[in-house]
Amino acid sequence: MQHALDEVSIRRVPKVLLHDHLDGGVRPATVADLAAQVGYPDLPTSDPAELAAWFRDAAGSGSLERYLETFVHTVGVMQTRQALKRVAGECAVDLTRDGVVYAEVRFAPELHVDRGLELTDVVEAVLAGFAAGAAEAATAADTSGGGDGHRIRIGVLLTAMRHAARSREIAELAITYRDRGVVGFDIAGAEAGFPPTRHLDAFEYMRRENGHFTIHAGEAFGLPSIWEALQWCGADRLGHGVRIVDDITVDDDGTATLGRLAAYVRDKRIPLEMCPSSNVQTGAAASIAEHPMGLLRRLGFRVTVNTDNRLMSDCSMTSEMLALVDAFGYDWQDLQWLTVNAMKSAFLPFDERLRLINDVIKPAYAALIESPASSG
Ligand SMILES: [Zn+2]
Repeated sequence: MQHALDEVSIRRVPKVLLHDHLDGGVRPATVADLAAQVGYPDLPTSDPAELAAWFRDAAGSGSLERYLETFVHTVGVMQTRQALKRVAGECAVDLTRDGVVYAEVRFAPELHVDRGLELTDVVEAVLAGFAAGAAEAATAADTSGGGDGHRIRIGVLLTAMRHAARSREIAELAITYRDRGVVGFDIAGAEAGFPPTRHLDAFEYMRRENGHFTIHAGEAFGLPSIWEALQWCGADRLGHGVRIVDDITVDDDGTATLGRLAAYVRDKRIPLEMCPSSNVQTGAAASIAEHPMGLLRRLGFRVTVNTDNRLMSDCSMTSEMLALVDAFGYDWQDLQWLTVNAMKSAFLPFDERLRLINDVIKPAYAALIESPASSG
């Protein structure tokens, strides 16, 4: 018998998160608090419970454009050093409580300069917030007697907005801060009409600097976007990449045939940062049970599971994994496979990835997976 797979046991086991937006994971009560503090007048309600429901409903409308509208409010209240530091600190605490041992959290510095902050102020406030939050969570774990209190490590990804024209500047910022907690670069925002090659200059710069980057591609738009992200821009990973299934045909008997691009993605071990609940909300997948993850996992793609926007999707790493257990019957081996996939794909030095896999992740899962010797 394996250890029971339930919310409590999944929360305890170490998890790795590669795709999480800082402005998509703000606590509802914090959105309301910050709005009051900075005099932000546009929130639909100041009641945290009503606000949580409003975000979930607005984000669940089925359109990526509508989904992105919800960020106007979170970004609207994250315009001061204090607000950015608080949101980052709470993010570190919340992810640690969710059992995340390594997270790459991303945000777009250019969205936080409406009240006069410089791009460097934004980055430094967020880095300070993560450091404070991770330290606070570690102290809480120590004082509560250890238990399953994991430590969290956070790597920052700096995002440029694909409809804007600051990507080269943001890429330079990512390189400037790369020894101070920034581990990579990304572009995000409405995908249709804004192909990744629009930001080729930024990606070429990252490559010349030996930097890492991921690109949101294959979420709202299909194969051409994925192809450009990989073959023109040189992305290390794909944000979502759901639509790679458009290049796979499955016969009635279940035999799958991969097109050239799908084969490249699988054979080259390109990590897919999949976000089940978010993908359902934006219409990239019809339901979690019909999410392409099921097929892609079966075909051996480098699949990872992520939260994307914990506020808008009202989710956590624990709830996403639990949803996959319900939809696909995943067991502890599957959850370990997803976790190791994510850790292998992190923008951390190789020796540090190995250490987390061998010293933190594998021992914890081993304790939950029955060993043959103990089966009696
Ligand atoms: Zn995203």
